[in-house]
Amino acid sequence: MTNGRYVVVGGGISGLSAAHALGDKFPDAEIVLLEASARIGGKIITDRTGGYVLEGGPDSILRRKPEAIDLATGLGLTPIGTNPGTRGAFIYYHGRFFPIPVGIQAGIPTDIKALLKSRLLSWSGKFRASLDFVLPRITDRDQDMALGRFLRYRFGDEVVDRLAAPMLSGIYAGDIDQMSLEATFPQFKDLERDSRSVVLGSRRRQRLAKPSTTSGSLFASFPRGLESLTETLAEAMTSVEIRYNAPVDRLESQDNIVQVRLGDETIEADGVVLAVPAFVAASLIQDVSPMVAHVLREIAYPNLAVVGAIYAPDAINVPDHKTGFLVPRQPKIQMTAGTYVSSKWHYPGVPEGKVIRAFYGHAGDDILRLSDQELSDLYHQEMSTIFPKIGKPFYQRVFRHPSAIPQYQVGHVRKMQAALTQMRQDWPRVVLAGAYIDGVGIPDCVRRARLAVEELG
Ligand SMILES: Cc1cc2nc3c(=O)[nH]c(=O)nc-3n(C[C@H](O)[C@H](O)[C@H](O)COP(=O)(O)OP(=O)(O)OC[C@H]3O[C@@H](n4cnc5c(N)ncnc54)[C@H](O)[C@@H]3O)c2cc1C
Repeated sequence: MTNGRYVVVGGGISGLSAAHALGDKFPDAEIVLLEASARIGGKIITDRTGGYVLEGGPDSILRRKPEAIDLATGLGLTPIGTNPGTRGAFIYYHGRFFPIPVGIQAGIPTDIKALLKSRLLSWSGKFRASLDFVLPRITDRDQDMALGRFLRYRFGDEVVDRLAAPMLSGIYAGDIDQMSLEATFPQFKDLERDSRSVVLGSRRRQRLAKPSTTSGSLFASFPRGLESLTETLAEAMTSVEIRYNAPVDRLESQDNIVQVRLGDETIEADGVVLAVPAFVAASLIQDVSPMVAHVLREIAYPNLAVVGAIYAPDAINVPDHKTGFLVPRQPKIQMTAGTYVSSKWHYPGVPEGKVIRAFYGHAGDDILRLSDQELSDLYHQEMSTIFPKIGKPFYQRVFRHPSAIPQYQVGHVRKMQAALTQMRQDWPRVVLAGAYIDGVGIPDCVRRARLAVEELG
């Protein structure tokens, strides 16, 4: 005898976390997870060909947000940190590698002396950045603005285009001039409000901050890569029925029951967690909650691609002390970043070899118009420009990410709050989870999925 039926739509980290939380909350209920594709994990995908670890999507979990690591350790997984010998990345700009100046945090300078020494910026760029000390506030307590507008005002275009944009778009793959300050880096607004100068404000915060009690790497993965998390979660949930190749077409409401439609089949549920991208959720809820559907449909998702390659140890010479490089927008190079995987991570037991990942795709340009072959050719051409003596990889794979990362545009926080409130009124038995709500990182997805389940009474 079961105690109700709950359906989760989507088998990425959000959906799996939701199913796990449902199992805890309703131990006697029937729980069904419906995944459109033939595999679970969504954006999380690890290629282990030949005993290597090559991540096709995310490669790290931010430890500072504990939800994902706590979930993993609860399942018996042991996290690993990044190689302690690596510190930060380079910026590759017009044919040269520049170290990221000391004190750059989330793309903004906190140490003007270090910035002055950097050769990445011109003297006028450095002078413009130091105006942060004297410029009046620009933010308004009640209004959001573009992150780019805020940073360009405080530090000038050079700092933004050569440092902040490549660093921040590594997280959001977004256009910094459209990204919401409030949804992405609200702390910048707080710094300005409290201290006027962002540099002085962050220095002040550093002085007041309690010494960190956690040591070691800021980021974590697992010995066989991040997909261990989604695989282990799926295996651990023995009472959850996971159905593959089960794309949901729409939801309907009848007498307090949610009808989940997949082709000719209907599953009746007491509660549903939608853990799919925003535009999919929009089409599923359109009939019952058109206002929420409208908000979700407006959230843009750029397409991205990751090209991974494995070389013999002497086929490419990359430094062991950096995690890779970021590429500010510049003519003749479309790559947005490269990771020296085998320098950044020492996955235990992997064979010898140099593993590299390159990222392609920006908000506003569709990189997936290129075929796998074209992406591969582009990668080789650009890598030969960056590393003229590079050899050929012995393994290579292109990972395509259509609708990769939701864009938090100006006004996102308020629109999402209104949409969640409306959803509770329109349809309390259907709750939303996913990277488009209030955090794109894996720990954010775990947290949001749990909150969604808490709301199901
Ligand atoms: C290249 C890349 C690098 C990243 N790097 C990092 C990183 O290093 N660290 C980090 O924390 N985050 C990173 N992220 C972000 C993070 O990976 C994602 O935000 C997160 O994995 C999203 O999980 P999700 O479950 O919400 O969505 P998804 O992973 O997109 O899962 C949604 C699932 O729903 C399924 N689905 C869709 N439609 C239907 C339907 N109609 N019916 C049933 N199922 C459906 C899909 O097939 C998919 O499996 C990265 C993202 C990308 C693309």
